[in-house]
Amino acid sequence: MAEIQLKNISKRWGSFVGVQNFDLTIADKEFLVLLGPSGCGKTTTMRMIAGLEDVSEGEITIDGQVVNDLDPKDRDVAMVFQSYALYPNLDVYENIRFPLKVRKSDPSTHDERVRRAAEMVELTDFMHRRPAELSGGQRQRVALARAIVREPNVFLMDEPLSNLDAKLRVSTRHQIKNLSHELQVTTIYVTHDQIEAMTLADRVVVMSKGVVQQVGTPTDIYDTPANTFVASFIGSPAMNLLEGEISGGTFTGQNVSISGLATRHEGKVILGFRAEDAELDPDGASSAPLYSLELLGDATIATLKMGGTVASIRAAKDYRAEIGDHTAVNIPAEICHLFDAKTGDRLE
Ligand code: ATP
Repeated sequence: MAEIQLKNISKRWGSFVGVQNFDLTIADKEFLVLLGPSGCGKTTTMRMIAGLEDVSEGEITIDGQVVNDLDPKDRDVAMVFQSYALYPNLDVYENIRFPLKVRKSDPSTHDERVRRAAEMVELTDFMHRRPAELSGGQRQRVALARAIVREPNVFLMDEPLSNLDAKLRVSTRHQIKNLSHELQVTTIYVTHDQIEAMTLADRVVVMSKGVVQQVGTPTDIYDTPANTFVASFIGSPAMNLLEGEISGGTFTGQNVSISGLATRHEGKVILGFRAEDAELDPDGASSAPLYSLELLGDATIATLKMGGTVASIRAAKDYRAEIGDHTAVNIPAEICHLFDAKTGDRLE
């Protein structure tokens, strides 16, 4: 059982604020992902939970116990980093066993625990290799096994996939998802990769410049982004955002007109829509020149030049056109998101 409470925690270095008023309860067994661009405060938040960084303000509790002044080793959390931090002179078996020796747990249990952890990450055939004799993916699995073997209350994972190539990243991601289902341990996972966040998380925390922008399930943050930062960070391609004005439920801007919007808002706005919610349609109300065409295999992404910006539309896999061709598009009013032109916050 490990519920973690972050009670309005902040981290300052002098006048610089790395993390500001982070307030969240992470449920027992929850898989929480901290997502945001480089420098937004993800790692700092995790290091405060691990006890590797002091909290400037606020309180952290694990299972109701305030841990602000507790040493990292007394917090019962296991960390997995992007740099695997393996001992080069020890083989896989001894690397996995290391935390058990440090914690002076009963030696008669070690062999079984090491083998069980190795089996979970499919390393049984590599027990006697040293880290230098392993691939990047295998090394990361040793790091995972070394965290698992401790049977901790909490897992903290800091970009564990970022040193792996694209294919290994996907297979190791599946493995982490499967492990988390099997182990049922509260996990906090840091990444700047929105696909990792969407696929792994029970809930995602989107951060920017030390401030939490939105907390929600992957579906929540995809379907109802709280502001333009979240809208443009989640989704591939990102949500299209058009500046313009609304009058009487009709949006006009970037050479586009969309009527029938269910809003009483008047004046400047930012209108958002996702590539898959609009369609290239010869009878569409708007038209714009084709800027680029990307073939994905299962679909084609057509990017149109709309006024001073570009917007991507997901088209059929066999859609073809020439750059510069005028293309009619249908952007249905009911799929549009509206954001405040000044603050970027979601309207309604
Ligand atoms: P990345 O994805 O690049 O690891 P991050 O979101 O994990 O980024 P943090 O490492 O948490 O970001 O850093 C948050 C901010 O705090 C950054 O602007 C960073 O430069 C700053 N920072 C981190 N550690 C210190 C420190 N010891 N002293 C001063 N500033 C720091």
